[in-house]
Amino acid sequence: MLKAVRGTRDLLPPDTDLWNRVEAKVRDVLARYNYHEIRTPVFEDTQLFSRSVGEETDIVSKEMFTWEDRARAESEKAQSLTLRPENTAGVVRAYIEHGLYKPGTLQKLYYIGPQFRRERPQKGRYRQFYQIGAEIIGPPSAGSESPARDAEVLEMLATLLDEVGLRAWKLELNSVGCAEDRLRYDKALREALRPVVGQMCADCQRRAETNPLRVLDCKVLEDQPIIEKLPRISQYLDEACRGHFAAVRMMLDEIGVTYSINERMVRGLDYYTRTTFEFTHGGLGAQSAVLGGGRYDGLSEALDGPKAPGIGFAIGEDRLILALQSQGGQPAGRVQAFVAPLGAGMNRHALKIARELRRAGVTADMGDEEFRLKKSFELAEKAGASYIVIVGENEVAADKFAVKDLASGEQVSVPRAELPEFLRK
Ligand code: ATP
Ligand code: MG
Repeated sequence: MLKAVRGTRDLLPPDTDLWNRVEAKVRDVLARYNYHEIRTPVFEDTQLFSRSVGEETDIVSKEMFTWEDRARAESEKAQSLTLRPENTAGVVRAYIEHGLYKPGTLQKLYYIGPQFRRERPQKGRYRQFYQIGAEIIGPPSAGSESPARDAEVLEMLATLLDEVGLRAWKLELNSVGCAEDRLRYDKALREALRPVVGQMCADCQRRAETNPLRVLDCKVLEDQPIIEKLPRISQYLDEACRGHFAAVRMMLDEIGVTYSINERMVRGLDYYTRTTFEFTHGGLGAQSAVLGGGRYDGLSEALDGPKAPGIGFAIGEDRLILALQSQGGQPAGRVQAFVAPLGAGMNRHALKIARELRRAGVTADMGDEEFRLKKSFELAEKAGASYIVIVGENEVAADKFAVKDLASGEQVSVPRAELPEFLRK
């Protein structure tokens, strides 16, 4: 039997009802904050990711689905392509490619779509997963560098999670400074690691050479006491970065968005500068991060674009759904009326009634004239219908229909014209 490939999965009803409700709510909230949708291709030139996410990150060094797309003509060259492992790089590429900086204003863009990483599949970790993300990007003159953007994004996320119904989420905040700060921190980390790195895991030994910041990401238990004693990034921030971070925190305090500082949160992508953040939820087990994001002030230039500071986030939609489900009590999509044709020749009448109901905004499903009444009742109950509408010869003749409330068992006769209003209750 053929099965979905390891790390991929089918999303099925009734789960997809919840996915759609979440997406509809997200679109609604984002529109209120004046974000507009962008859709970028699912695959891109491999270089886009190596130059933005960073060669030494886990994503680029081992998690990408990359292939050589062979030349189709003598004149063509083979090209290395990659299924997008994240969407910020694609958005910034599109921002540059289409000159979205030309109006000189902020661009507020959001996306919803699949991403791909070759990771070890487990709960909350898949090889095809879905992200809901947004970016604010623009020239500094439009206010893109201002700490108010950071606070605005974080406040929006708090509102969005509240409105989709997620309870007890936590916000963790950090600042990873600017490129110069990180050079100094990098040097300090290397020095601090030199005498102890021999006792650490193989990954850390490699990271200590190639990208010491990534050591802070290490999850190996035995390495934790060593990592706890390493220098802290906050001691290496310059005046401007320190001030920027203080301003972000001050605004969050002012509007009442609560957070905690986590100095080890450096995030898995090299393009981040200054503010980085994660929202976590207790219902997710080991993969507790529902979303992550941060500022990326040098990313546009790294991709040959103009100076265009920005800040963004990506929600792991699979994890958001898991977290909501862990809270329980998600009502399934409800069928309001089950239309039951009763007896030969009744299908066409039932179809007509169902058509009228659906056009009037009632969620309706229908049975078949071949079914006995008992079977129709069973099907209506399986569908979770509120009412069953019986369409038999007498009903059609009288243009009045027997309607039974499946919860209370109460039955009444309702004239055809009054059906939609009756069933919408
Ligand atoms: P993690 O620490 O969980 O590996 P990450 O730092 O790799 O996360 P990001 O690249 O920041 O994650 O992506 C943002 C969000 O996307 C994460 O917080 C998570 O909710 C989700 N996410 C990342 N990788 C996966 C995956 N393989 N499967 C499902 N969701 C994922
Ligand atoms: Mg990861």
